[in-house]
Amino acid sequence: MFDNLSNRIDRAIKNLKGEGSISEINVASTVKEIRRALLEADVNFKVAKEITNEIREQALGENILIDVKPGQLFTKIVSDKLTELMGGEMTPFSPQGSPATVLISGLQGSGKTTFTGKLGARLKKQGQQVLLVAADVYRPAAIDQLETLGEQIGVEVYTERENKNPVSIAENAVKHAKTNGKSIVVVDTAGRLAVDEQMMNEIEAVKKAINPSETLFVVDSMTGQDAVNTAKAFNDRLDFDGVVLTKLDGDTRGGAALSIRRVVEKPIKFISTGEKLDNTLDEFHPDRMAQRILG
Ligand code: GDP
Repeated sequence: MFDNLSNRIDRAIKNLKGEGSISEINVASTVKEIRRALLEADVNFKVAKEITNEIREQALGENILIDVKPGQLFTKIVSDKLTELMGGEMTPFSPQGSPATVLISGLQGSGKTTFTGKLGARLKKQGQQVLLVAADVYRPAAIDQLETLGEQIGVEVYTERENKNPVSIAENAVKHAKTNGKSIVVVDTAGRLAVDEQMMNEIEAVKKAINPSETLFVVDSMTGQDAVNTAKAFNDRLDFDGVVLTKLDGDTRGGAALSIRRVVEKPIKFISTGEKLDNTLDEFHPDRMAQRILG
């Protein structure tokens, strides 16, 4: 993951290793290389420009009389900047309520249903009484998929195959959860191939009806800039609480992970790697991700 970005940043900083001190010239060329690396990783142009300007100013402003080599200094500055860019502190996922309610949104194919299964397994392991809800009224296959996942993890899945109204399915599911002693309800909604008005109206209505304690937006990290644009479109309508980045196991270039927070101003809460349920679902730690990028 992010191999290319890691290599390029590493190379840019290595060029400084022979240098005795930070100068305008070596800072300018290193920063230029880092900016190129970020753009190549599909980081939003404005974001790449902003953070490299910040890196430059900080590098030139640091007191280099103390015993720090330019390479080390740069590594530290870039690491701190990437951490800050991805949100700084880790933002926990801790939905409240009885039952707590979680709404899952995103485009079709983003990995919503797979994530819903992984989240269900994780919550069950934590001792929660979980109810997963299939509120996709367009694709019966999506209901089958969630039911299969539910069977695999031993978690109940709520469905109403004849009901074509996702709002009433979600409301009924929450009622069912209350009367059946569930502590948390996770509602998987329908996605479309692109953002459209009807989908937005529908999911907005579901959100209004069940007033979830957490609304998560799931996005395929391999889609780069599109991931950021879609996140923005969903957030404008849904005002979601956090982002789930999926498919970080593929040859994603990293742009979505690095740009989403700054553009959308919402934290990344989970990263998901792999199609199988026992593949990883991790809480997102900006500092750890920055360390991984810097190798
Ligand atoms: P949905 O339409 O948003 O519910 O998406 P699905 O959960 O059905 O996932 C769409 C496709 O992406 C399926 O083939 C999944 O197996 C695959 N998928 C989901 N999450 C991941 C992931 O983290 N990594 C990889 N490689 N594939 C994933």
